[in-house]
Amino acid sequence: MDKSLAIKLNSALFGLDVKGGGINYISHSHSDHSYALKDNAPIFCSDATAQMLSLDYNGKPAEENSPNTKAVDENIFSAKKNIKKESPLPGPGEKEDFLGRQNKISKRKKPFPKRIQIPPSFSLHNAGHILGSTQLCTNTQEYGKFVYTGDFKLRDGLTVKKAPILGCDTLVAECTYGNAQVAFPPPGEVYESMEKWAKQNKNSIQLWGGYATGKAQELVKFINTYLDEAPVVPEKIAKICSHYKNNGISLDYVQAGTNEAQEIMRSPFCAVFPPHQLNASFASQLSHAHRRDAKVAMATGWTGIRRMSAHASFPLSDHADFGEILRYAQESGAKKVYLAHGKNEACAKELKKRGINAFAIEQIGKKEKMQAILQNQ
Ligand SMILES: [Zn+2]
Repeated sequence: MDKSLAIKLNSALFGLDVKGGGINYISHSHSDHSYALKDNAPIFCSDATAQMLSLDYNGKPAEENSPNTKAVDENIFSAKKNIKKESPLPGPGEKEDFLGRQNKISKRKKPFPKRIQIPPSFSLHNAGHILGSTQLCTNTQEYGKFVYTGDFKLRDGLTVKKAPILGCDTLVAECTYGNAQVAFPPPGEVYESMEKWAKQNKNSIQLWGGYATGKAQELVKFINTYLDEAPVVPEKIAKICSHYKNNGISLDYVQAGTNEAQEIMRSPFCAVFPPHQLNASFASQLSHAHRRDAKVAMATGWTGIRRMSAHASFPLSDHADFGEILRYAQESGAKKVYLAHGKNEACAKELKKRGINAFAIEQIGKKEKMQAILQNQ
């Protein structure tokens, strides 16, 4: 994450998904947005993000620090489906992998940073990315009405609703897929193609790959809703699913290594795993152990951009595509748009061609910084 995201707002330095501010803001719990956990400065974020981050801290609940009292627009779907009784988790410090082997889990030693209330004049709004993800809005002397959004999307998912577009003078936005060639199909079309593939392979073990936080829960919900099944998941994903359930999002899943999982695995079954665990050798071990074909399907926005090592891949993304970045820039009315992450210069160029006053984030405050240097000479 870019150091340019330590930005002076009303003369105070804020780290926006970076460390280095006097106060740091964490937009969501993905590791590339939570560097502020390694800093000593206080942090602020949504309650759901703080709870999710604290899952890595020996279960110490983050809300023991000062919880936010301001309402955060989470826009999450309410519970609709009956929930199966959850399987007990393995003991502390243990992790059972898919084949029942146990490994030690390394726990973070550093204490959870001091969490403060949302500073006055700031408000947080749903970012539509994963549970607890927010965008930040505030009025500033430097940039007028200022909005920062880390990862976001303007499409409804199965577990998180789309982000609202906030009107502003200055917009700072993440542009992970800020390439004009990237356009994701509507989610309904993606779910239909996933359902079709799943039904064609109903006699196989289906291993669905998606990042443990956010994507895996979307996959669990897809398997519940479209395939009417409860997938087997490893402990890490089960923990995060449980956190989603605590926040009112019903998910039906079974933890690997439990008797219930063993029972399910006697027949063709679905499982959801982080992509890095799904390789040919893993699939072949499973296939051999269960005497049944095992198929791997990846769900990622990089489908069609990067080569996937899987039997199938689907463009199910938690991020905005280029069209959504353009739409946010246009509909927010921002006079200046700064882009962070990935090929932000190229994205700014493409937006400029479409009439947006866009820059790479490295340009933010550059004029003011130059003036300060000249004054000091
Ligand atoms: Zn993210």
